[in-house]
Amino acid sequence: MSENKELKEAFKLTCHDVGVDCDVEFIGKDFEEIMKKASVHAAAEHNLPIIPPNIMKKCALALRGIYLDENGNEVKK
Ligand SMILES: [Zn+2]
Repeated sequence: MSENKELKEAFKLTCHDVGVDCDVEFIGKDFEEIMKKASVHAAAEHNLPIIPPNIMKKCALALRGIYLDENGNEVKK
């Protein structure tokens, strides 16, 4: 078993998860942080200045729990 005392729990979402053909991913410690990043990206890249409630719901359902190492990189299990 590898050492994992430095791992931090986080969440991840990609545009792809909500049906957008885009592989940009958002990582944050909670849903709020991810949606902040996602809304900036959606406004800039997808011409979607406000994320509608149905997309917001899809995001919440698509959210995945991940672990980050001490450098903030996702740990693949
Ligand atoms: Zn995107």
